[in-house]
Amino acid sequence: MVIDLPPVSVSPAIKASAEIPLAGGASGRFYSFDIGGAGRDGKAPDHVAVRFPGPSVEPGGVPLVRIHSECLTGDVFASLRCDCGPQLQESLALFGAQGGYLLYLRQEGRGIGLVAKLKAYQLQIEQGLDTFEANRALGFRDDHRDYGIAARMLQALQVERVRLLTNNPDKAAGLEEHGIEVDAVLPTRRHENPHNHRYLHAKREQGHRL
Ligand SMILES: [Zn+2]
Repeated sequence: MVIDLPPVSVSPAIKASAEIPLAGGASGRFYSFDIGGAGRDGKAPDHVAVRFPGPSVEPGGVPLVRIHSECLTGDVFASLRCDCGPQLQESLALFGAQGGYLLYLRQEGRGIGLVAKLKAYQLQIEQGLDTFEANRALGFRDDHRDYGIAARMLQALQVERVRLLTNNPDKAAGLEEHGIEVDAVLPTRRHENPHNHRYLHAKREQGHRL
């Protein structure tokens, strides 16, 4: 039996939405989108936004927003090779307190995909390249991510002004370029360990505030 669900929201760009209780006591409403953009397989990636209740999403507030690009190894397996996992956990803790939106973009490895990311790791280990040099050695640009998608997701959620949680100035500029007003840029903590020291150094060299 196929059940046709009624429209879930104000925007036709939102395909589905469901409330999901999360460990730690918070609860988030997960949204999926029909928002275009092609992944490497030609299909549009399943980007996700999660709305957390709290003062920042109440009327009169300016929502706290984090744009987080998928990192399977860091987010799911707590890889020490990058700082994605601890950044995601730090963001979730802030959302629990203040409310806000997590935009979880399915653009693994700064947009190059999991296979290429593993190849890039291999180059870093074997040839001593940094994360950006390794991507270039594989024929990619430094960063293949597209923040226009994040802006369209926010617009579908009727969010026009944000306080952005990031150390990456490209993300704030990317949102503003696509019509989202960035009221404030709030840095995340520095999550350094002996395995990601070089990775963080390369990100600093690329202009991240770390
Ligand atoms: Zn990562």
